[in-house]
Amino acid sequence: MIQLRTLSLPNVYVPYVPGMLRPEIPISLGANPAYVEYAEIDPNDQGHYAVLFTSWWSLQRTFVVVEQDICPNRGDIDSIMRCGHGWCYYPYSVGGVPRGPMLGLCKFSGEIMLSYPDLARRALYGRGKKHRWAHWVSVSEYIMQAVERAGYSAHQHGPPVRHLHTYT
Ligand SMILES: [Zn+2]
Repeated sequence: MIQLRTLSLPNVYVPYVPGMLRPEIPISLGANPAYVEYAEIDPNDQGHYAVLFTSWWSLQRTFVVVEQDICPNRGDIDSIMRCGHGWCYYPYSVGGVPRGPMLGLCKFSGEIMLSYPDLARRALYGRGKKHRWAHWVSVSEYIMQAVERAGYSAHQHGPPVRHLHTYT
């Protein structure tokens, strides 16, 4: 996988499981490669996404998550980065229904992290019985709940982005 890094901290993270990153994603993000870090998730570690997300949160720098099968439209990343709201998302279809907020294409401002530096860890650590870190399928839900409980409202952007997930 291509690793694109700069001297400054990245502000777009693309978590992906090897072999699962849709080729449309790097193409759609290609206009701003300097801002993108592709973060490989260990498919044998169900808690790895939670660990990664918590590490991004701990940097207390504004970041955008673009999941491996969510395809932003041209300009969406710039739009969400420039928006004055602290918590932003683009909705996308899950099972045919546009939904949000979800982590698939979501921005969190550094201000939220400064105000709630332990939010991600509290939301994602120690909730499961078998696993100390939340299973990857629950990361989005737990983070959305935690940010909402902290008193923030998600700012919806549009139009919805494509969800390239293949339902089998
Ligand atoms: Zn916004």
